[in-house]
Amino acid sequence: MDLDAPLTTLKGVGPKQAEKLARLGLLRIHDLLLHLPLRFEDRTRLTPLAALRSGTAALFEGTVASTEVVHGRRRMLLVRLEQDHGQLLLRFFHFGATQRQALATGTRVRAFGEIRGLPGTQECVHPDYRVLREVPPPLDTVLTPIYPAADGLSQRLLRDLVGQVLPEAARLPDVLPELQREGLPDLATALHAAHQPPADTAPPAGARPPTTQSPAQHELIPPPTESAPPAGAHFHTAQAPAQSELVPSPAPGRSPALRRLVLEELCAHQLALMLHAGDRPQGKAPALRPAESLWPRLVAELPFRLTGAQERAITEIRVDLARAQPMNRLLQGDVGSGKTLVAVAAALTAIEAGYQVAFMAPTELLARQHARNLAAWLEPLGIRLAWLGGRQPKGERDALLADLASGACTLAVGTHALFQDLVGFRRLGLAIIDEQHRFGVHQRMALRDKGKGTVPHQLIMTATPIPRTLAMSLYADLDQSILDERPPGRTPVRTALISSERRDEVIERIRVACGEGVQAYWVCPLVEDSDVLEAEAAESTAERLRAALPDLRIERVHGRVKGVERDQTMDAFRNGDIDLLVATTVIEVGVDVPNASLMIIENAERMGLSQLHQLRGRVGRGHRASACVLLYRAPLGEVAQTRLEALRRSDNGFEIAEVDLQIRGPGEMLGTRQTGDHAYRIADWGRDQDLMEAATRLAQTVFPDRQRTQTLIRRWLGTAVEYGNVG
Ligand code: ADP
Ligand code: MG
Repeated sequence: MDLDAPLTTLKGVGPKQAEKLARLGLLRIHDLLLHLPLRFEDRTRLTPLAALRSGTAALFEGTVASTEVVHGRRRMLLVRLEQDHGQLLLRFFHFGATQRQALATGTRVRAFGEIRGLPGTQECVHPDYRVLREVPPPLDTVLTPIYPAADGLSQRLLRDLVGQVLPEAARLPDVLPELQREGLPDLATALHAAHQPPADTAPPAGARPPTTQSPAQHELIPPPTESAPPAGAHFHTAQAPAQSELVPSPAPGRSPALRRLVLEELCAHQLALMLHAGDRPQGKAPALRPAESLWPRLVAELPFRLTGAQERAITEIRVDLARAQPMNRLLQGDVGSGKTLVAVAAALTAIEAGYQVAFMAPTELLARQHARNLAAWLEPLGIRLAWLGGRQPKGERDALLADLASGACTLAVGTHALFQDLVGFRRLGLAIIDEQHRFGVHQRMALRDKGKGTVPHQLIMTATPIPRTLAMSLYADLDQSILDERPPGRTPVRTALISSERRDEVIERIRVACGEGVQAYWVCPLVEDSDVLEAEAAESTAERLRAALPDLRIERVHGRVKGVERDQTMDAFRNGDIDLLVATTVIEVGVDVPNASLMIIENAERMGLSQLHQLRGRVGRGHRASACVLLYRAPLGEVAQTRLEALRRSDNGFEIAEVDLQIRGPGEMLGTRQTGDHAYRIADWGRDQDLMEAATRLAQTVFPDRQRTQTLIRRWLGTAVEYGNVG
């Protein structure tokens, strides 16, 4: 097996699957080895139906007593299982005819899933199941890994692929023997342990369960408390500290295997930074003079004054743009700090100098929103804007591309996919990238490689506040401008912590507020390994809220809602035609609906602080006083309490990030890793902060050795660069 070969050489991967896998950054066989599980499930033991406990996940068997399709508001398949004196209802929202037939009465089934409901009426939504023949297969002997997945990629496929590849792990050269001298496992051992830990792996003392792992549980049964995660639920096992010089003693929650791999990845990123430090984009950029007429005209029309921070950032950018060397600048600013206007100032400079501008956003939703806002500001100045959408009629799109090629159109707005067409500009002077999330070194390298001949200036915007100390090492190759000032006159969002036992009061509050014309969001928890369960949480929450609030117009958006429908729903919400929008965290990124001034976030204790802060930033954008309710499941652990309190007290993203650094909740300081556009494969800026320094020192040792350096960069960043994974 050639570890560098494309994934299509594996059994079970056709072009379709390959495309989905590529979206996870998985292109080559060795990428699979580095795609680590999020967590593990224990399927090594069977639980009798009568002994199932709500709020826990279990492996169980039973005989189908009845199967029926019910047509309510939503069509679903209900399968009743029986065994001895126990029974359980299986509920499916997505199913086909064959599945229904396979679950006929009398069939024996083995399944795994999360149990909800009261004894006697317990149920399991979308279990992972198999039909049993005469001789049931043996039970698993190892824990079942749950991989980060996306868009219709099944866990089964990922597990199968990793299973095919893992035996070859030893052929991946271990180029960091230093780490073995530190008492850490070698590469192959670490990979095996990370993918397939033995079943008796004890749950770590004091480790937290993963932040956002399971769907809404039943109201009446408390979830496992933080100090007692479900057995074998996670591989971040704490071990006795190994004293060493290079590697600090471990923070709880990571196994030596994971630390070994994280160190290697961080080291690879450091090496990439070292290789490219001071190595600004090659080539010449157009030297752009400050806009002398357009920008003052726009400013004169604004109903507000620029903040000092905005003025400073604009000045810094202008200095860069006036040089013949390509700008490479990161604009960091908390949600609502007014980054867009700064970008517009830069865009006007380029346009007035006779150049074109490309404005990119990570999602179609955001790109559309940007297009709308930019048009309102720029069209009065006579600037023609091209909106490049994914679902545009071909004729329209071709016409726009022709206008970009001729230079008739000066500003193009679209998603990162727009990058493929960059060559089609006549005179591109500036590329603006609204990232909203993290912007990793590999993503920057991918952009850098686009330059041929004259290189456009680059402005990257991010809303993830990063403590300065951290930013210095992470963005060593970028100049930075920071918007650390909020526009005045905003009423801060009032944040309340409320136990989910008081859910009824919260619903009553929504009824009253929406009656007075307020619009509200209800955010459902993220389920990072299953878009089916996540969608189901949003669907059933919307259903329950509709029942409780019959007078309100309630809609829902989630990852399974088709693009067109999602756009329509968002437009309707923006137009005030929806009172309450039930959503998954898809609304986290930059959605701007000023009239929305109330937000409820369910299971807030499971989300990252930064993610919560981003979500909360969706309200408090209009004139109305806004509120954010963080619903949590009691009892709240001490760490969770401190974290949520910090969020309640502060609305400053940088401050919150600092608090997060101090508390250092494993894996969740700067948000969780599921947004799909994170900087690392396995490392986490929050959890792995303490390894950063060791990784830097390791990189310094390795750097003189070009061969090792290249191997590591290629292994960890290579395919992402190749893929141009910028969003
Ligand atoms: P973000 O930094 O989160 O991208 P935006 O650029 O979307 O923020 O700005 C948020 C809102 O604040 C927008 O409605 C924008 O018009 C407004 N805004 C920008 N600058 C100022 C300012 N100096 N004073 C008041 N409002 C401003
Ligand atoms: Mg923005």
